[in-house]
Amino acid sequence: MAIDLKHLTIEKAHDALAKGEYSAVDLAKAYLDEIKKKDGEIHAYLEVFSDVIEQAKHADEIIKSGKAALLTGIPLAVKDNILIEGKVASSASKILEHYRAAYDATVIKKLKQDGAVFLGRTNMDEFAMGGSTENSAYGPTKNPHDTTRVPGGSSGGSAAAVAAGLALAALGSDTGGSIREPASFCGIVGLKPTYGAVSRYGVMAMGSSLDQIGPFGNTVADTEILFNAIKGQDAMDGTSMDFPEKKPKSKMKIGVPRDLLTIGGIDEAVLKTFNESLEKLRKLGHEIVDIVLPNVKYSLAVYYIIVPAEVSSNMARFDGMRYGTRVPGANGIEEYFLSREAGLGAEVKRRIIIGTYVLSSGYYDAYYNKANTVRDIIRDDYRKAFEKVDVIATPTAPSVAFKLGEKLSDPLAMYLEDIFTVPMNLAGVPAISVPAGFKEIDGKKLPIGIQFIANHGGERTLFALGRNFLGEK
Ligand code: GLN
Repeated sequence: MAIDLKHLTIEKAHDALAKGEYSAVDLAKAYLDEIKKKDGEIHAYLEVFSDVIEQAKHADEIIKSGKAALLTGIPLAVKDNILIEGKVASSASKILEHYRAAYDATVIKKLKQDGAVFLGRTNMDEFAMGGSTENSAYGPTKNPHDTTRVPGGSSGGSAAAVAAGLALAALGSDTGGSIREPASFCGIVGLKPTYGAVSRYGVMAMGSSLDQIGPFGNTVADTEILFNAIKGQDAMDGTSMDFPEKKPKSKMKIGVPRDLLTIGGIDEAVLKTFNESLEKLRKLGHEIVDIVLPNVKYSLAVYYIIVPAEVSSNMARFDGMRYGTRVPGANGIEEYFLSREAGLGAEVKRRIIIGTYVLSSGYYDAYYNKANTVRDIIRDDYRKAFEKVDVIATPTAPSVAFKLGEKLSDPLAMYLEDIFTVPMNLAGVPAISVPAGFKEIDGKKLPIGIQFIANHGGERTLFALGRNFLGEK
């Protein structure tokens, strides 16, 4: 039978699988067909796995035994920086082109236990550094809503896969917006969990104090199902923990940091959609109040010191000896230089250089330490705000999806795209992007997202508000 992938949700698929309307193999085949038809143009995947049908057969056995979980047989896409044992994991970098993961990331282990089906690994900005997926060593992914535009980044492949119907849901990682921004550009839902809510074991580290793995879905409910499956304390990640579940309120107090909305320049259509969304929330019975987060305006400056610092340290292992492609040279040092020269792209090199600089003796106090101090102050802004409000709302990104190549030669313009997303990584609080509207350009409807932010451990509040906003039950 033909499966209606367009309107499929995890719950619907789960019910159909349980009732035997179709099998996990049928479902996997339906997605593989779509990938064959569409991914030549979109390029969401770097690799479609050769064992998808085998995985689906295994899922069918679990279903037959009556032990199916919600995710049993559900076809997922996985960002290329998350390890799946035995599969290539390249982080879209040349240096890891042939690297095969030696173990499963904790999130993968959990999903395997549920019998989820991994369709393939998705394209991304190299080592998750970027906001457009153009920093991939394997060519960019295109936005399914307009293939002359970027899908956002760095998890652009995962977002595009879900938006184009090439996976039912997906995993990405978010260090400064890499789940929320592509979710916004592609018109889907994306969650950056609370720092520590999901184990980072087996995700390639970019900025270790900011990285989180998180879900993408077509609906808030799908995103929530995937989050519930991957969250939880893990002995392999000392920063992970179980957060106590708080029952969300039905009527919420939503704070809007008005003065922040225009500091980096914002597309008028984005601002209009945001204001309309607030009106909609008000009509739904929520209270909207203005708030001030006095130091959040320093977030980008702080982020682009802390991230390169952590990057420069995390990237040291890719030297052609311990990991990665080795380029032969006259001696060890030369080999190290040649391997990194050939294996790493421009943005990664830029961050290694900046990071090494801000950590070097004499500059450490002036830059890195100062950035960390301001980070604490930013975190405090949120702590104080959440004494007064349940949720904070902002646009997810200042613009809609931009043209391929438009910002590639201007790293600062690219960094400015992160203005609304990086503060939450600095503060460690969770944030979700949900579709809020469109801007029409050249007859193409380009999605606009709204971002809801909650206090540490407040994912359920975000899901409740997101569902309410989108009219999901
Ligand atoms: N665009 C941001 C950056 O380049 C965020 C990346 C991310 O979240 N991985 O750092």
